[in-house]
Amino acid sequence: MLLQRLSEAHGIAGHEEEVRAVLLEQIRDRVDACRIDGMGNLIALKKGTGSSPLRVLVAAHMDEVGLMITSAEESGVLRFAKVGGIDDRVLPARVVLIGPKRVPGVIGVKPVHLLDKGERDRVTESRQLTIDVGATGKAEAEKLAPRGEFAVFATEFIALSDPSSGYRTVQGKAFDDRAGCAILVELLQERFPFDLVAAFTVQEEVGLRGARVAAGAEKPDAALVLECTGANEVPTTRDTSPSTRLGSGPAITLRDTSFISDPRLVELFRTAAREKSIPHQYKQPNIGGTDAGSIHRARDGVPSLTLAVPARYIHSPSSILDLTDFENTAALAREALHRLPRGFVP
Ligand SMILES: [Zn+2]
Repeated sequence: MLLQRLSEAHGIAGHEEEVRAVLLEQIRDRVDACRIDGMGNLIALKKGTGSSPLRVLVAAHMDEVGLMITSAEESGVLRFAKVGGIDDRVLPARVVLIGPKRVPGVIGVKPVHLLDKGERDRVTESRQLTIDVGATGKAEAEKLAPRGEFAVFATEFIALSDPSSGYRTVQGKAFDDRAGCAILVELLQERFPFDLVAAFTVQEEVGLRGARVAAGAEKPDAALVLECTGANEVPTTRDTSPSTRLGSGPAITLRDTSFISDPRLVELFRTAAREKSIPHQYKQPNIGGTDAGSIHRARDGVPSLTLAVPARYIHSPSSILDLTDFENTAALAREALHRLPRGFVP
């Protein structure tokens, strides 16, 4: 399954090579042209049938959140910095894999017996944490994991539920946004009326950087960003309406902190979902940001919309996704794109 391969590939911002290699192998034979730009974005063109003059950008980001090794202590443990948004609480005692050789390490944690009362109630800041690769000294640690090397969570992709039960949940890392990448690969199987430019972008998690370059170079008339967004409908004592719910279908973003969706695109997706009876939901407005935040501001402006697969516990070592949501996201993207009117841009 492509989602599994992509989930298990390693690629924090700035080090997306492994993910890009998997994607390139998948799309090479199904597109009319493809290139890798100066930042590392993988950009492919799938020519349209000729019935629409439009050029539509569909983007999904390749990078995941992770860590970068910053130094080694005399004792042989490694200091690191976070790359992208990670909650310090999810770090202690995690196994990570460092660099392309996947050197294993453990983010050290003090045993519970040794904690004093104050420490038990406090979250240890990431800059106080270290990664233990089993090295006996600084030189050995530096050899195993040189400064600047990246690390990702060691997480296996596992099917959680028995498909015959009707539930189809899987757990793995980096569904944000390898789910979007997998859907974009699927979309490239067919021809749309318009020229479709697929952009597998770099460095989204550190400021939507690759998308900005891709949109500037490709001059699209409209854009769709395929994402994976947080579902937080877990039990809570306070009432906070969830951002999205697992199992309720693709989430249409009306607005997040990075952009406001084009109302014509919202209507197009809403109508397509209704008429084809594709379950869908609206992401709670004003949470997070996506590549659309860069794309809609490119050149003289690009009408954009973000469509996302909901997943629980994103930006942590393990997230959970419902494969039915995943398939419905692909189905809604496909259906709505086919309906994009040729006169969308005058
Ligand atoms: Zn994302």
